[in-house]
Amino acid sequence: MQMIGVLGGMSWESSLGWYRMANERVRDKLGGFHSAPILLDSLDFAEIEEMQASGDWAAAGDILATHAKRLEVAGAGLVVLCTNTMHLVADQITDAISIPFLHIADTTAEAINTANLRTVGLLGTAFTMEQPFYRDRLASHGIRVVIPNAEDRSTVHRVIYEELVLGIVTEESRQKYRDVIARLVEVGAQGIVLGCTEIELLITQQDAPVPVFPTTALHVAAALKAAGL
Ligand code: GLU
Repeated sequence: MQMIGVLGGMSWESSLGWYRMANERVRDKLGGFHSAPILLDSLDFAEIEEMQASGDWAAAGDILATHAKRLEVAGAGLVVLCTNTMHLVADQITDAISIPFLHIADTTAEAINTANLRTVGLLGTAFTMEQPFYRDRLASHGIRVVIPNAEDRSTVHRVIYEELVLGIVTEESRQKYRDVIARLVEVGAQGIVLGCTEIELLITQQDAPVPVFPTTALHVAAALKAAGL
């Protein structure tokens, strides 16, 4: 069994979910007092968010690469990054470490392919929806991605940064997301990727007429499997 190195804190609201789900799964599987072997490195999101906003991805990548290396040195057998957006700098991380890095879009793609779906709608930050890094990664698994229209993208992005990362969950925003999902289904989405780790705080399967793919939960399951649990 390997120790899972977790890069979290982006935001801590979703990393909390990651940590809880990992431990619940191990408890359910092994019973008794068992819990998950995790090395959690929780970053200060303020620093990372500032770099996102100014487009300084290289600097943010340097920080994440340094933290990933630290997890390796501390004994992690693999590294996971608990945010979809920051996978924009996944290459900087993988270049810095010699242990496996479990890409969140790969684990999501595996679930989409297992469900036999060809076209999915992608919800996430503007960076995740608009820049090619995430869509291309899904496309490399044979998956077609549709994204919300400009107005809907701005709503989805705003709710993430002004509400969800601060732990604010409202019925009004849930309804807005449901409407965005409905419009994605109209343009052909057979499933919806909850491609931001905080969206699971707001949206569940009950909010969508097609299967949803919760990236945090899928990432947890894949990380435990890769760690031999
Ligand atoms: N956790 C979010 C994600 O999965 C957004 C916050 C961030 O930019 O890291 O994309």
